[in-house]
Amino acid sequence: MIKLLRDFKPAFFSDENISTLTHLFKTQGKHVWQHDDVKEACLMLGNKKCAYCEVILNQKSTYLEVEHFKHKDDYPDEVIQWSNLLPSCRHCNGAKNNHNVVDEPIINPTVDIPSEHVYLKAYRIKGIDTLGKMTVETLNLNDIDHYVTERCKVGAFIEEQIEKAEDKLNNYRSETNPARKREIHKVIRAMLYQCQKNSLFAAVSSTTLHDSEEYSAIRSEMISLKIWTNQFEELHLSSLALRLPSSK
Ligand SMILES: [Zn+2]
Repeated sequence: MIKLLRDFKPAFFSDENISTLTHLFKTQGKHVWQHDDVKEACLMLGNKKCAYCEVILNQKSTYLEVEHFKHKDDYPDEVIQWSNLLPSCRHCNGAKNNHNVVDEPIINPTVDIPSEHVYLKAYRIKGIDTLGKMTVETLNLNDIDHYVTERCKVGAFIEEQIEKAEDKLNNYRSETNPARKREIHKVIRAMLYQCQKNSLFAAVSSTTLHDSEEYSAIRSEMISLKIWTNQFEELHLSSLALRLPSSK
């Protein structure tokens, strides 16, 4: 889970539209959130991923569901309030069901900072405090098939890229030429791209990357060899912001 920025408000959510649609929901039970503008806005908010578990939406079986953070049955006035909507996968939306986040709060990734409330242990997300623990339990975030196995694959990819980068850096050290520089750049780029906010399980990949002493050594050496680019540094820093605390 990563922090999401709700720093825009689509024109769809005008006071007039909200008032009309809220009335339609309350009087006729219409699914007023089932609108392309709402879905598009939710996808943008979540970097095209589930706000809770970070699976990429609208791929294979992971279709976007518009999630009401405060449940629409208990809080009908917020059924189409932009501040109450999140992008979610079917699994998280189903697990959360009609959970009341006012009575038993869970992390709202657009409000709370997830890394203050959860940490990573052996590809499982664990609560640091009551809020984190309630979140993990409510959303069933450590389902083996859905998440833990898939997070392992992402972690393994990062570990593999780090090993590859070490090899390529050795090659470059033994013979400094543009072709070898291109080779290591390709590996570093692929690795850093997998650790950005729009990547599958970015909190996991970023944590794996920044926990790695080998990665840290590679970066230091590339900086001193002047082959660590500004783009890499930007990607490095944006990924660092997604890191969760971890425990072995
Ligand atoms: Zn999810």
